[in-house]
Amino acid sequence: MICLTTTGGSPEEAIDSVRSNRQWIDLFELRLDRWELLEESALRRAAELLRTLEPRIPFVLTLRRSVDGGGYAGPEEERQERLRQALLLLSPDWIDLEDEVLETAGGLTLFEEAKRREVAVIRSVHDFGGTPEDLGERLERLEAAPGDVAKYAVTTGGTADLLLLHAAAEEARRRDPAGSRILLGMGTLGTVSRLLPGAFGSLWSYASPPGERLGAPGQLTPRELVERFAFREAAAGAPLFAVLGNPVLHSGSPAYHNRRFREEHLEAAYLAFPADDIEATMELFDRLALRGVSVTIPHKEAVLAYLDEREPSVEALGAANTLTRTGAQRWRGTNTDVPGFLAPLREERTELSGSRALVIGAGGAARAVVYALFEEGTEVTIANRTVSRGEALLRSLGVRGRVLGLDAAPLREEQFDLIVQTTSVGMDGESEPVPHLPISGESVVYDIIYTPPETPLILRARAAGATVITGDRMFRAQAAEQFSLFRPLAGESPKPL
Ligand code: NAP
Repeated sequence: MICLTTTGGSPEEAIDSVRSNRQWIDLFELRLDRWELLEESALRRAAELLRTLEPRIPFVLTLRRSVDGGGYAGPEEERQERLRQALLLLSPDWIDLEDEVLETAGGLTLFEEAKRREVAVIRSVHDFGGTPEDLGERLERLEAAPGDVAKYAVTTGGTADLLLLHAAAEEARRRDPAGSRILLGMGTLGTVSRLLPGAFGSLWSYASPPGERLGAPGQLTPRELVERFAFREAAAGAPLFAVLGNPVLHSGSPAYHNRRFREEHLEAAYLAFPADDIEATMELFDRLALRGVSVTIPHKEAVLAYLDEREPSVEALGAANTLTRTGAQRWRGTNTDVPGFLAPLREERTELSGSRALVIGAGGAARAVVYALFEEGTEVTIANRTVSRGEALLRSLGVRGRVLGLDAAPLREEQFDLIVQTTSVGMDGESEPVPHLPISGESVVYDIIYTPPETPLILRARAAGATVITGDRMFRAQAAEQFSLFRPLAGESPKPL
């Protein structure tokens, strides 16, 4: 289930955000601590507004203290008095009360009041310091204390913390399969616990309305969860796929693959998996039974150690951008950057064999480009800011070619049949790595950058009458190659690994 955390500064704004997100949510958390004026009159207005929500949507009542990441910084007695009034006036389904507060006389009185009104109590802990090693034991203690739902939110400082969270969830499930709990990892590296709440033993995932004032670190919008990250399909137990990287939440891959899965009526969910530690990540992939993974910066090289089968380009490049599962802890590595780079050139009927190409850049993407061009019999010149990096690239691929600095004289004079731009220069929409490079109408100019869709180099090439290829075409072609590898692994109910 998806729970919208309201962030509005007034009852009106809060209920408006519920209304505009209602198609994606199952419940909401009314966050009184976000209101600018928390008075009895505001609570009465909220009660009126809640009555206009038809059909009714269940909700959690929360007035979070600033020490727990909320916006309430006033006296504790007043907070508890407001919560008591809100219980009376708003009739929530749940009230969120902090574990520590429930140990006090005031907290106990609130607890009893909630019970009298048949409001379920979420007993919560928020740890902004990290993920404690003994999380399993702490959760057990929390669950043993009075309350209906145990909520433990920890800060995920690294992927190893996510493993701890998952282990605590599994332990709790074994101890009490019927127990109601919410376990989540705050921060970007905890995203997977928000995309797959069921796998982490949680009743629901919290999401925030679009906008700047996000409810908590790492929260996504309800629409993103449902549309970009296939939350409903994942919750229904569909086979799982993901893009692994860091950072990776901006990646276009989830939107692409989930759209393709839906178009082809295949049961599957494709997530974003931000991670910093490859060993912990590979273990999580097994625990969560992921079937296919797209790999991006900075993990393309590190995944090699976990592959049981590698296709020749993976071997030659020392990098894989696609993993497909062949068994428990068994993966095949593929590199779809190579066919993805070549596909638009084939569409444009570009003659590669025997032609002269200039590759600008010598980073990770350039490796796949240079490898692909050599395989096609193209004569390659590399131009890179750091010449030694270009030379190392050629050496590691075991091929011969020319390497120039970006200011070298030949780049002012020579004509190339194909110019491939692989540096990040141009992402600002303003700069070019080699602004003095001559471009003729006979050249093919290929910039692999896909944001912005048209770089200054592409605009200049188009003005010169050259054939242009933009980076989105490579992105889509490599994603389509990946999809053809993922397709046979989707659509059936998950098998035990
Ligand atoms: P990378 O490994 O970090 O390499 C970056 C390259 O850019 C290096 O050659 C670097 O030169 C050069 N560079 C960076 N800043 C520079 C500057 N200020 N002046 C001159 N050169 C500069 O990155 P990557 O993985 O190869 O990715 C590069 C670009 O390709 C990114 O924009 C990425 O989004 C894009 N890409 C697109 C696709 C697609 O499907 N369309 C696929 C992969 C990558 P030095 O060696 O001198 O540092």
